[in-house]
Amino acid sequence: MAIIRNHPIWHSVRTALSRLRSWETILSLQQQTCFSCGMAHKGANPLLPLCRACLAAIPWITEVVCAKCGRYESCPDCARGAETYLLRNRSAVRYTPGMKEWLALYKYRGRETMRQVIGPMLLHAYHLHGKEEPCPDFVQEMITFVPLSEERLSERGFNQAEQMAAELGKLTRLPVLPLLKRTAHTGKQSFKARMQRIDDLKGVFALEPRGVSRLQALIRGGPVRIYIVDDVYTTGSTLNECARTIRSQIEVQVCGLCWAR
Ligand SMILES: [Zn+2]
Ligand SMILES: [Zn+2]
Repeated sequence: MAIIRNHPIWHSVRTALSRLRSWETILSLQQQTCFSCGMAHKGANPLLPLCRACLAAIPWITEVVCAKCGRYESCPDCARGAETYLLRNRSAVRYTPGMKEWLALYKYRGRETMRQVIGPMLLHAYHLHGKEEPCPDFVQEMITFVPLSEERLSERGFNQAEQMAAELGKLTRLPVLPLLKRTAHTGKQSFKARMQRIDDLKGVFALEPRGVSRLQALIRGGPVRIYIVDDVYTTGSTLNECARTIRSQIEVQVCGLCWAR
C-alpha cells in the first residue's frame, strides 16, 4: 500500500481530485444571472435563464378566446371572416409593455442572448396548438420562420424569427427549414394601416429552393404540417401572406406560431 501511496501517479491522482473538488465548490456557489434584470439567482426554471420575479412577471396566454388567431380577448378581425391560409395561430404571451421591452432589447439593442429567453418561450405557443387539437400521428411537423429582407438582415445582423425557430427546434426536435425569402423590401409594417399592410405584402415572399427541396422529401413520407415562427402577431397579414406563398405551390397545412399577440 505504501508503495502505491508513494508512487508518483498517486500524487497526480490526488492533485486532480482536489482540483475537481474545488471546482465543484465554485460551481455550486456560482449563481446564474437573470437575462432580463441581471439579478443573481439559482435557476428557477431549467428552460429559461430568468430569476423567479422575472419568470412570474411573464404574461402567458393561458385562456385562448379566438380559436383562429389565438387572441386572449374577443377578436373583431377574425369575426369579420377575412380570408386566411393559416389553419390557426397561437402565441405564447400578451404583448405588454414588459414584453415590448424584452423584444426591443433583443432586436434593437443588441442583447442577442435574449434568444435563449424568447426562443424557448415559443414552446408554450406550440403546446397551445396541441391543446386545441393534437397533431395526428401520421402528420409530420416541421418549423420555418418569417424571413427578413437582405437589407434588414445586414442592418440587424440576425433574423430573430430564425433564431427563435432554431431554439424551438432544439426543444421539440422538429426539423427547422428555411422555406421563404423576401423578394422586395417593405417599409416598417408597424406604421401602416391594416389595408395598406395587406396590399403591400402581395408577392413580397417567394419560396426558398433549399428548404423546399427538403420539404418535398418530407412530403414523400406523408402529410406535413408547417409552423411559421414570428415574433409578434399583430394583424396576421405577414403570416397569412407567408402561408399563401407556401400553399400556392405545396399542399401542406400551415399554422402560425408567434411569441406575442
Ligand atoms: Zn430577473
Ligand atoms: Zn382572432
